[in-house]
Amino acid sequence: MTTILVPIESLEGAVLPVSLEILTAARQLAATTGGEVEALVLSGDAAKLTSKLGAADRIIAVSHPALEHYHPEAHLIVIAGIIQQRKPCAVLFAYSTAGLDLGPALAEKLQWPMIGYCTAISLDNGRINAQSQGFGGRLTVASQAALPAILTIMPGAFTEAEASGNPPIENWQPPALLSKLRMTRVKGTSPVPGGVDISEAEKIVCVGRGIKDKDSIEAARGLAEILGAELAGSRPVIDNGWLPKERQVGKSGRKVKPKLYFALGVSGAPEHLEGMKSSALIIAINTDKTAPIFGCAHYGATCDLFELLPNLSQQLR
Ligand code: FAD
Repeated sequence: MTTILVPIESLEGAVLPVSLEILTAARQLAATTGGEVEALVLSGDAAKLTSKLGAADRIIAVSHPALEHYHPEAHLIVIAGIIQQRKPCAVLFAYSTAGLDLGPALAEKLQWPMIGYCTAISLDNGRINAQSQGFGGRLTVASQAALPAILTIMPGAFTEAEASGNPPIENWQPPALLSKLRMTRVKGTSPVPGGVDISEAEKIVCVGRGIKDKDSIEAARGLAEILGAELAGSRPVIDNGWLPKERQVGKSGRKVKPKLYFALGVSGAPEHLEGMKSSALIIAINTDKTAPIFGCAHYGATCDLFELLPNLSQQLR
């Protein structure tokens, strides 16, 4: 029986939605082989994290104080031990903080092949086929690897699995090595409470480098206020310190899908589109009619945002 192992990620006592996406990817693989999906939960009290994992055929739970928070060394020790005993044909991670640490480290430790940035995967004749997205979406690569293999899957490539079943839970004894960790987690700090979460916003006005300078952002802020929208920025706007990091949209910022996304002076680089292309209604303003943002915008105007903004704000008022 081929087994696909999915190490589950959690933060502050809750399973991360991306792990449910990875369970969907694992279910698809298992469907082609008649194999099983095992969800691996590591936590201070793993039993508290199992309720959303009904898409798995089995849950392996390991509880230990060293696993209360994500700890690369501790997680690596436990997952490597479980893999050596359970012998899965594939281990699926998200392309995430933990996946980026653990995937390559395990591949090296176990001498398994690894394919990263996967957006589609299938099993065929004992080999894994994967499609990967590289360089911020500018390159798509088809790869094959012998099994067993490790894969890191791009967030958003699969939908979240529903907790449809009630899988059995196997509790595993934590390895003794967890009391001899060489690395210590000193402190974790969450963003300041009350800070904005643009991923929840229903309307967003996003400024790009076309806004030119920090002072000019006030005009965009005016439009955002009239629309009842949150103000956001592309990466250069954040890197220049014109808006705080929590307002960055894109690959290295927040993924958003508001009902309205108003892009002002944003070119639409792949790394930006990755964070906003699922918005329900995208309106783009850009002086360059060839700007890639127009490729995903529902409405657009090729004009100077500084000429448009005062008139638009006045009309909307
Ligand atoms: P530009 O590409 O400089 O575009 C400015 C646009 O404004 C141009 O299209 C121009 O025609 C237009 N413009 C100029 N003047 C006016 C005017 N007066 N009126 C109207 N339009 C005007 N980028 C992100 O946004 N988010 C990310 O999370 C992100 N993560 C990244 C991660 C990695 C690993 C890498 C390599 C890059 C990342 N980037 C990210 C950067 C990304 O590649 C682009 O450089 C960035 O998105 C460009 O931002 P921009 O559109 O604001 O600027």
